[in-house]
Amino acid sequence: MTIIPLDRAHTANGASGGRPVLEARGLTKYFPAHTHRGARQAVVHAVEDVTLALPPAGITAVVGESGSGKSTLARLLAQLIKPTAGNVLLDGAATPGRQRYARQVQLVLQDPFSSLNPVHNVRYHLARPLKVHGLASGGSLDSQIAELLGRVALTPADQFAAKFPHELSGGQRQRVAIARALAMRPRVLLADEPVSMLDVSIRLGVLNLLAGLREREGLAILYVTHDIASARYLADVISVMYAGQIIESGPAAQVTDAPAHPYTQLLLSAAPDPDRAEPPSLRGRGAPPNLIRPPAGCRFHPRCPFAMAVCAEERPAAIEIAPGHTSACWLHAMDLTAAQSRPLKEPARPGPALKDPAPGDVAPKDTNRPQGPGEEKR
Ligand code: SF4
Repeated sequence: MTIIPLDRAHTANGASGGRPVLEARGLTKYFPAHTHRGARQAVVHAVEDVTLALPPAGITAVVGESGSGKSTLARLLAQLIKPTAGNVLLDGAATPGRQRYARQVQLVLQDPFSSLNPVHNVRYHLARPLKVHGLASGGSLDSQIAELLGRVALTPADQFAAKFPHELSGGQRQRVAIARALAMRPRVLLADEPVSMLDVSIRLGVLNLLAGLREREGLAILYVTHDIASARYLADVISVMYAGQIIESGPAAQVTDAPAHPYTQLLLSAAPDPDRAEPPSLRGRGAPPNLIRPPAGCRFHPRCPFAMAVCAEERPAAIEIAPGHTSACWLHAMDLTAAQSRPLKEPARPGPALKDPAPGDVAPKDTNRPQGPGEEKR
C-alpha cells in the first residue's frame, strides 16, 4: 500500500493518459455563513483540499450526494467563483484571462430551461457566443450554427435554429446548451448534472452525445453527478466526494466493482439494482454532516460502521490500493496502534447496503439523524 500526499492524490488516475488539460490543486472554497446576530463569523466548508486532473479525451466523473460540494467544484473549475485556497492550472500553467479561459473551458448547467433565455430562439443562443468571442465569420454565421446543431444531433438545423426554448423537449434544450458551449471550440467541458433534470428515456441520448464528443473531438469532460451508475457508464475515472472532500478515486470499473471506501459502498447501495429485493436507503446510515462545523478526522466517521478511534481525530491520507485507485480511509493503513484501531462505538446495526462488519468491527450508536453544530465529536 502506498500513502499518497493529499496534494498529489487523484491526479494519476487518467485512464486515457496524457498531460492533464485542466487541474485542480488543493482547491478549497469556504462560503461565509449567515448566523444570528452576535454569533462568531462562521463559514461553510463547501470544498476542501481537492486535487483533480482532467486528461485530454478523458471523462472524469465527480460523484456524491447533494451538498457534497461537487457543483461548487465545477464552478471553481469554471472560474465563476474564486477559491479560498488552491489553484486551477490549464496545461500545467496559471490560467489566462477570463475571456481566453472561457474559450477553452466551458460549463454546461443542470437545468437547460433556465440556462436558455425564453424570449430568444436557438439561433440567437448560438450566434451570441460566436459574436462575443469574435468567432463569427461573416456571411457564414448560419452555416456555423448549422454545424453546431449537427454536432449535437439537432437536425434539420434550419428548423431547430428557428425554435424557442419552450418549443423544445428537455433533451433538445440540453443539446442546445451543449452546442452553445461548443461554439467556443473549448478543450474542456464541465457538465454539472447535465441529465438529472431530463426524463429517464432521453438521458442516455445526452450521455452518448458527451461520449461522442470525447471520441470525435478529444474533449476533456468533467461529469458531475449524484448517479454513480451513470458515472460508471460514461466515465473513465470516478472521484467520489463526501462533505467537500474527495474520498476515493480510480478507474470507473474498479471503483464501482470493488469500492474501497465505506462511503462509496454506501453510495453504490443506493444505486438502482433490479436484482435487489429490499429497497436500499441512505437513511439508515444517517445524513451528511453540517459543513459549518464538519466532523473532525474522517468526515464520514459519524456514519461509518467501521469507525475507529483514530477516525474521529485524524484525517486519513489517500492510500493507493491499486494502480491509480486511491481511498482516504484508515482501514487501509497497516501501522495503526491498538489504541488508534479501537472501535469507536458499539457494533453497527446491520444495514441493507453495507456488508456486515466483521467481528470486532464497530459503528456509531445513532446514525439515523442529521448532525447539528457541536455534535460532531464523540
Ligand atoms: Fe472514515 Fe474510519 Fe470509516 Fe474509514 S473506517 S471511512 S477513515 S470512519
